[in-house]
Amino acid sequence: MREEQADGGAVAIGVELADLATRLAVVAVTADGRRIEHIQRLRLERPPTPEQAVERLGELVARLTAPPHAVISPVSSVGVAAWTRVDPARGVIADARFGATWEAFPLAERLAARLGAPTRLLSGVSAAARAEARQGAAVGRSPLLYIHLGRSVASALVVDGVPLEGARFDAGRLGHWQTGLDGPRCVCGATGHLEPLVSAQSLVRLAIGMAADDEQALTAIHRVTGMRAEALTAPQVVALARDDVRVIRELVDVAVDALAGALANLVVALDPAVVVIGGPLAKADGVFLDWLRERLRARLAGVADPPAIAAAALEPDGAALGAIWRPEPSAGG
Ligand SMILES: [Zn+2]
Repeated sequence: MREEQADGGAVAIGVELADLATRLAVVAVTADGRRIEHIQRLRLERPPTPEQAVERLGELVARLTAPPHAVISPVSSVGVAAWTRVDPARGVIADARFGATWEAFPLAERLAARLGAPTRLLSGVSAAARAEARQGAAVGRSPLLYIHLGRSVASALVVDGVPLEGARFDAGRLGHWQTGLDGPRCVCGATGHLEPLVSAQSLVRLAIGMAADDEQALTAIHRVTGMRAEALTAPQVVALARDDVRVIRELVDVAVDALAGALANLVVALDPAVVVIGGPLAKADGVFLDWLRERLRARLAGVADPPAIAAAALEPDGAALGAIWRPEPSAGG
């Protein structure tokens, strides 16, 4: 019954907004402190407008909270992790990465009105990092340097559970780290940045590009994708590198070395207790992280002990979990 569930205490909801898909993680905490997790997923129209996203999320939460199939009691607070630049203080989307209609959209305020609960907004990378620090791969270790290698490359430094947001809420844009290499062009227009070398999407694109002029790579890609090169995934690229498909091994080598270079600089500046890598590359049979550890150790030889490098433990729901927050009892949200 809803009353009995509500009696158990506040129910906090975490939502992840990626570009096209939305994950909704619900965590209910009962009176005796037990945690009930409930994960929902939905896909938004492409391209999603912010109004559509608010409406669809409202419908989804209503399904979870309405009888007869209510799985949670009424919502007390909502946290949203959006994989774009956000202003967490004002709860506003701060750029147009999701589309022009999203820029300056007051997402927290609009969702709060739709869901009837106080709502906070965090960047996706900050939320995912926060979750790893609180309940994932970095529990008990601080500072955490979290690096997400996905469609883009982003990072977050979490000190004692709190992600550093930066003066303009713009910290962690590691994708635009300057490698000093004459690499492919970045989305920002510059060359030599980290993202076009080492994001999961970049590695796939580069591997397919290489295969156009290399018979061994083309044959190998066709073999692992069932002749559908366009379906190639980042873990498959890493597996082909491990299997010594020469041009792919070379491009993964460059990627790992560029990432290790950036990491080595960050390690000497910040001395993190642990580095957690999120995204599909971290899951690539462990071998990508093994190569990264090896390169980092070499780069730091005689300078510093390399920190532990771990794969993210909470994917794919880490960002939604990390967005969850609870209003202070006295502040009332
Ligand atoms: Zn860039």
